[in-house]
Amino acid sequence: MQTFQYQQPTTVNQAVQAGAQSKTAQQYADVRFIAGGTTLVDLMKLDVERPNQVVDINTLPLAKIESAPGGGLVIGALARNSAVAHHPVVQRDYAVLSQALLSGASPQLRNMATTAGNLLQRTRCVYFRDIAHACNKREPGTGCSAIGGHNRMLAILGTSRDCIASNPSDQNVALTALEATIQVEGVKGRRTIPIQDFYLKPGSTPDRENVLEPGDLIVSVTLPAPLPGTRSYYLKLRDRAAYEFALASAAIVLKLNGSRIERARVALGGVGTVPWRSREAEHVLEGQTANAASFRRAADAALKDAQPASENGFKVELAKRCIVRALTVSTQSA
Ligand SMILES: Cc1cc2nc3c(=O)[nH]c(=O)nc-3n(C[C@H](O)[C@H](O)[C@H](O)COP(=O)(O)OP(=O)(O)OC[C@H]3O[C@@H](n4cnc5c(N)ncnc54)[C@H](O)[C@@H]3O)c2cc1C
Repeated sequence: MQTFQYQQPTTVNQAVQAGAQSKTAQQYADVRFIAGGTTLVDLMKLDVERPNQVVDINTLPLAKIESAPGGGLVIGALARNSAVAHHPVVQRDYAVLSQALLSGASPQLRNMATTAGNLLQRTRCVYFRDIAHACNKREPGTGCSAIGGHNRMLAILGTSRDCIASNPSDQNVALTALEATIQVEGVKGRRTIPIQDFYLKPGSTPDRENVLEPGDLIVSVTLPAPLPGTRSYYLKLRDRAAYEFALASAAIVLKLNGSRIERARVALGGVGTVPWRSREAEHVLEGQTANAASFRRAADAALKDAQPASENGFKVELAKRCIVRALTVSTQSA
């Protein structure tokens, strides 16, 4: 672990200015914000992240969870995962988010992990986390040890010839199905980014994971007001029942009219290089009767472009069954 300078800004503006000193936004960023530290500190110990400045944002007033002026909910960047998961409005109106958060990590980790840190958590690909191996995400141009290596946990959607690392987050799958927006304060002021436009697929630049620039500080995430009668559900399939990342997961947000699906939002975890929204599945579902046949058609559509690697072909059928099961449960719940 290399030595670093530590600073604790007292205002958002100071934090942005400190972050803007970084010469790179992603790979080996030389200035990093630290929130809960549950991703960053691990990666610094592994020498994967080597910032020479760490900017502790925990003193900033960004932990509130409050109603949005026009309806909806604003979740502060520093709101802890446990606080969000147990918030009564989240449990009532955005159950999929509460379920996704509670399926992740452990109670201790969720007490530290923050909303923004979770948005920016990095892949668990073992080759990314081990500097003895080639990894285009960690060191562009070195190659990808995962392609042809141990890739059972890795992505089958949105991959490229340079990277098949999966996005490991549960929270972000739920936020994708909920069509959340992300508020960012940067050197040029504040902007709002729909989560759908936030993450970048690896392509030939897997080190560039999202659209943030140096100095960009996430200040909040906003959930739109729920449509009356909407129901939602998160299902996570994994190797053990707790404290494990998803092999496949599905976040469903549905509005039914009788047995007819009026509106559907479907997002997948564990299978994509980014939190994966399946517009294909949504398109198949909307206007259809909610039943086993339409659910299976939606699942087939969601995985039609899957490109498994040597060890993760099983994820194609697993993800399909995950979608069907999640849709089934979400149409049964009140
Ligand atoms: C053992 C273990 C098991 C886990 N299991 C799961 C799981 O099953 N599911 C799951 O989803 N997650 C899991 N996680 C990941 C965990 O959810 C993340 O580590 C956590 O959400 C990161 O939040 P943090 O606040 O600790 O981030 P930090 O480590 O503080 O930061 C992470 C990154 O975000 C950046 N950052 C933080 N805040 C901001 C901000 N406001 N603006 C801009 N950049 C910011 C940091 O610079 C850093 O690059 C697990 C983690 C561990 C260690």
